[in-house]
Amino acid sequence: MKTKYNLPKKVIFCKKCVMSNQRPSSISEFLHKRDRKNAQYMKINNEDGICDACKQNEIKDQIDWKDREEKLIKLLEKNRKKNGEYDCIVPGSGGKDSAYQAHILKYKYKMNPLVITWPPIMYTDYGLKNYNNWINVGGFDALVVKPNGNTMRQLTRLSITNLLHPFQTFILGQKNIAPKIASKFGIKLVFYGENEAEYGNPIAENNISLRKKSYFAAKNYKNIYLAGIKISELIKKYNFEKRDLQIFLPINDNELKKTKIEVHYLGYYLKWTPQEAFYYAVKNTGFAPRPFRTQGTFSKYNSIDDKIDDLHYYTTFIKFGIGRTTYDASQEIRNKHLTRDEGKNLVKKYDGEFPDKYFSEVMEYLNIKENKFFNICDHFRPEHLWKKKVGTWKLRHTVNQDGVDD
Ligand SMILES: [Zn+2]
Repeated sequence: MKTKYNLPKKVIFCKKCVMSNQRPSSISEFLHKRDRKNAQYMKINNEDGICDACKQNEIKDQIDWKDREEKLIKLLEKNRKKNGEYDCIVPGSGGKDSAYQAHILKYKYKMNPLVITWPPIMYTDYGLKNYNNWINVGGFDALVVKPNGNTMRQLTRLSITNLLHPFQTFILGQKNIAPKIASKFGIKLVFYGENEAEYGNPIAENNISLRKKSYFAAKNYKNIYLAGIKISELIKKYNFEKRDLQIFLPINDNELKKTKIEVHYLGYYLKWTPQEAFYYAVKNTGFAPRPFRTQGTFSKYNSIDDKIDDLHYYTTFIKFGIGRTTYDASQEIRNKHLTRDEGKNLVKKYDGEFPDKYFSEVMEYLNIKENKFFNICDHFRPEHLWKKKVGTWKLRHTVNQDGVDD
């Protein structure tokens, strides 16, 4: 049976959480066809049947957090500016994790962070309110970098038709913008949150210097793809202008050599779980959960500020058989807020639920006919994961072992 995206042929589920070996690292999700042989997927150990993320989590329990905090304090001391200028950057759009990070850096560790926002493609009302509260209640200087709306819309549309990835433009922009702004402001320190989300990337090491690694920088833009298309081709065939694409691209290596910017994950230094970040953000920055359950999952407080995000997780369900519940439940199981059985039940109940709440609005914004979207989905379904039964697509394998081939 044919697979797609170089996915592992045999579907295996972790014995501890509900994740499968079909989960791509976030970089692999972007790869152009040509590079897919390098795609990395979640490794599940042959002997004990446990995935790398669960193993990583066990290590987390043995970490000497006091020692890590001391390392953080040293790093902060090295970068602290005493003249009132910004000394670090926290990128974010108003979610609980960035709210927590910026707040703890400013008020506990007395740093002077600049908050950088690459806004969601389509802000939800409550997401925008959380953003405003973060800045106004939390008390931060903030810089919003908003790309040209026409380019954003066209690229997002192309990301769906070419890659079935509605969220690529947002993720790329958010990842790339902070080091570029850091360079402009002469700020040497950028903090991202937890790197569990980055699992499997070449930057698995939590603590990286930008100068040594290429994830956040590029030597030249020749081999960079946006929406699965080469930059040169976007300009020649799709009539994009270089000046409109520039904002989506990573910082240039040459520019980087002049600076000594470092990117760090605060989750490496401080132990935190999504639930605790949520409580912290509620208390300190006026964060509020979504007023209703997020479609496709059971949670109310993870990634709630973009209307397109719900659709994004639906597409991971199509491409990898992994919906938002699988992601959320696996994380909650690792943090001991759910048992595996509870997680399995939630997967059965909600995984792959179609997010119809904002669907029409999103399609209208992107100028894609609803039928066309479903046709694109079918085109991206790997044969080794899906089987059509009496006119309906069914998963061949599920964590509940009730797939058509289980
Ligand atoms: Zn696992």
